[in-house]
Amino acid sequence: MNGSLYDDTREPDKMTEDLFRHDSYLKACDAVVTGVDDDAIILDRTVFYPMGGGQPGDIGTISWDGGSASIIDTRYAERGAIRHILAEDSARPEAGDAVQVELDWDRRYRHMRMHTALHLLGSVLQYGVTGGSISAEKSRLDFDMQDAVDKEELNSALRALVEENHVVSCRWITDEELAAQPDLVRTLSVQPPKGAGKIRLLEIEGVDLQPCGGTHLHTTGEVGQVRIGKVENKGKHNRRFNIHLDD
Ligand SMILES: [Zn+2]
Repeated sequence: MNGSLYDDTREPDKMTEDLFRHDSYLKACDAVVTGVDDDAIILDRTVFYPMGGGQPGDIGTISWDGGSASIIDTRYAERGAIRHILAEDSARPEAGDAVQVELDWDRRYRHMRMHTALHLLGSVLQYGVTGGSISAEKSRLDFDMQDAVDKEELNSALRALVEENHVVSCRWITDEELAAQPDLVRTLSVQPPKGAGKIRLLEIEGVDLQPCGGTHLHTTGEVGQVRIGKVENKGKHNRRFNIHLDD
C-alpha cells in the first residue's frame, strides 16, 4: 500500500470501530489491518484507546501469523482512523492481514480507576474544570476556584463516594437533546463536540452526568484506595488537585 490511508477522503469502511467505547473492559480483539504507515498500523476495529481527553493512548501487543510487535502508543488520525504506533524497527503485518491486539491491561485499568476518580472529584468540587491529565501513577484536575479547601474533608468525601459503590454507565444522546439541557455542560475545558450528531454521556448514578468519551469503571467501588495528593495554585483562578492510587 502506498502512502498513508488516512489521507484518503473519508470513507466509513476506513474508520476504526472503537470497541473500547462500548465496552471498556475488553482486553483483546481480532482485527484486520486496513493501513500501514512509517510507524503505525491502522485496524478495522480495536480495543486500544487513542490519546484524548487527558487520558493517554493505550499500549500493548499486536500479533499475526508469523510475527508480533509492541504497540507503544495509540493516537487518532484524521477521519476516525486509529493509529497503533509500533516500537522502532519492529516487524509489522501487511494491509489485509488478520491480527490480534492485546492491551497492557494493568496500565489501562489504572487509567479507568483514575478517570472515574476524577469524575468523583469533579462532583465534590462544584467549580468549573480548566484542565486535567491522567496517568497510571498520578492524575490531576484543575479547577477555576479561589475558596479555601480542607483536604481531609475532601478525602473523606471522595472515599465515601467510592465506598457507596455507585453504578457508572454511558449513554448516547443527540445534539438536539443536549441543546435542550445546557446544564449538562458543566466543564469548561472540554465542550461536547458540536455537529457530531450523537454525544456520549457518562453517568455516575446520583453523582455526576457529563459528556465524556473516556474509559470508565462499572462501579465507583472499583476505584479502590484513592487519595488527594498535593493541592497547588496554578494561577489566580486555577487550583490543581493531584490524586494517587495507593495500591
Ligand atoms: Zn470520563
